[in-house]
Amino acid sequence: MTDKNIQTNDRQSSNSIKTANADEADNILNIRNLTKSFRVKSGIISKNEWVYALDNISLSIGRGETLGLVGESGCGKSTLGRCIVRLYKPQTGELEYNYIDDDGQPQTADLAQLSNKQLKAFRADIQMIFQDPFSSLNPRMTVFNLISEPLIANKITSKAGIAKRVIELAEMVGLNAQHLRRYPHAFSGGQRQRIGIARALATNPKLLVADEAVSALDVSIQAQILNLLDDLKINLNLSYLFIAHDLSVVRYISDRVAVMYLGRIVELADTDELYTNPQHPYTEALISAVPKSEPDDVVTRISLNHEIPNPSAPPKGCHLHPRCQYAKDKCKTDIPALRETKPGHFAACHFAEELSLIGVKDEE
Ligand code: SF4
Repeated sequence: MTDKNIQTNDRQSSNSIKTANADEADNILNIRNLTKSFRVKSGIISKNEWVYALDNISLSIGRGETLGLVGESGCGKSTLGRCIVRLYKPQTGELEYNYIDDDGQPQTADLAQLSNKQLKAFRADIQMIFQDPFSSLNPRMTVFNLISEPLIANKITSKAGIAKRVIELAEMVGLNAQHLRRYPHAFSGGQRQRIGIARALATNPKLLVADEAVSALDVSIQAQILNLLDDLKINLNLSYLFIAHDLSVVRYISDRVAVMYLGRIVELADTDELYTNPQHPYTEALISAVPKSEPDDVVTRISLNHEIPNPSAPPKGCHLHPRCQYAKDKCKTDIPALRETKPGHFAACHFAEELSLIGVKDEE
């Protein structure tokens, strides 16, 4: 039996797999009501507390789409990325992955329900690019071995074909055959991230989760890596979840953007629409904090009151209410649902339609 047959049979043996209908298959991934919490110890008596990193998250990623995900540190965006690649198992909810099987038929699998054994058949399809290119590469391995490792582990290529495929992958990310003999310490941050991207591409993935993939790089190198990711998306028909805290970077690469605050999605829209017409006070505050390129530009910085609350004891009602300048009594008790306030624009604010929030100017 070939490796491909093994994979297909593993996929078909799962109870969580069913034939997709046409609508469901439009998106590569449908996330529904996903929750993930972690138990932490706190205080001098080591009391157990639960941190709700993901609180009923629902999102979709379209085929060929780059979905940006922004928010402050600790808001849960990396946890969401890690649940999608199943480094973490969510407590509840669905991760509906739509794929084409070996017979060309659309299928769907709920990745949230699969056992580790069943997940093996899907690991190649969904890969992650990590933030820190300095620590995500084994310093004792040559670039050749680093890129060939996922090929061997996933039985992607025959032994004879490995060298050819490694060179192909290296060239795809802007490295050359000479680089393959060297060790990671011999490379700059941008080149190391290229090696990380080549490793992620080795398994012919369909969806890439890029978690702060350019945050550790200089601005000029960031632009090179973002352009590389954009080219690869088009050439290889990839879809991305692009996680970052830098709104300028997310705006540059994303088709749509989701904004996350304390484990919840608070706004979701097409990129230009979200940046020019924010409908949630948290998005408005994040946009106002982005440095302006022209020194003469007047900056109206909208600061949020107080520090980000303790995620193990988030405020009731709207999580943002202690920090929100627009908060009213209702905000302290009622959780605002994420609802469509305009076609394709979703916001989780009781007063989204009433507020006149400030975004970026069109020409910025
Ligand atoms: Fe602010 Fe209330 Fe809207 Fe929350 S629901 S963002 S507290 S106005």
